[in-house]
Amino acid sequence: MLWGLACPRCKHVCIHQKAASCDWRIAHEDGDGTRTLSMKNSTSCHHVLSSDMIGRRDAISLTFECEECGLLDAKLVIQQHKGHTLIYWETNDGNSHPIQLYDT
Ligand SMILES: [Zn+2]
Repeated sequence: MLWGLACPRCKHVCIHQKAASCDWRIAHEDGDGTRTLSMKNSTSCHHVLSSDMIGRRDAISLTFECEECGLLDAKLVIQQHKGHTLIYWETNDGNSHPIQLYDT
């Protein structure tokens, strides 16, 4: 069985990955990190201050475009938190929202 990810805005089932960002803490939690940003025709890697990192540990965020409502302002975040792996949508205002899966 496969599970799909629905659009957090309109619930349409056809959304496409546009960019992936991986944040890695350099030395310890709460410290500065390294961010690798990857999209269709480019990849970059740069230093990121702790205040610009997601959460307190490593994290991945993915940007999507929906076939129905366009580029999403929310990013899918997969975040390490006290030994747990959290997954949620984060909107530009910093609020988190639960993901919705559908059975394919
Ligand atoms: Zn949508």
